[in-house]
Amino acid sequence: MNPTFHKIPGEFFIRIEGSFESAHYLYSYFPDGSDEPIHGHSWQVELFIAAKNAGCSDNGISFDFLDLKIELYQCLEKIDHCLINQLEDFKNVNPTAENIARWFYNKLLSVADKKKGVIKEIRVHEGPHAYASFIPFSS
Ligand SMILES: [Zn+2]
Repeated sequence: MNPTFHKIPGEFFIRIEGSFESAHYLYSYFPDGSDEPIHGHSWQVELFIAAKNAGCSDNGISFDFLDLKIELYQCLEKIDHCLINQLEDFKNVNPTAENIARWFYNKLLSVADKKKGVIKEIRVHEGPHAYASFIPFSS
């Protein structure tokens, strides 16, 4: 490989994504304190990961995302085709896009860590025009 490739400063981000179809409703959403009606979304999840060393191996790979992708798909199966409010993990949790992003973060953190990756951002789209983005503070 051309040795100058390794000298270009910068950080690599890997993006993996998935989608699910589920319903939810938000608690005490309206001014009178009533809940939002149940409705569905075509959700999309985007995960941005970087290697802990922020670099790239000699083989040109910064972060091997295979294990994280498998874990992401297992999470997607848990939250797909359901009423999110009824999931055990969302008991007493308002199932907003923000909280769903944190749910994915909690589920994926250990696999990312084991593979020496850092989750930089998780986006949860409710549809094509709106998403919530969770950016964890680095520890
Ligand atoms: Zn909604």
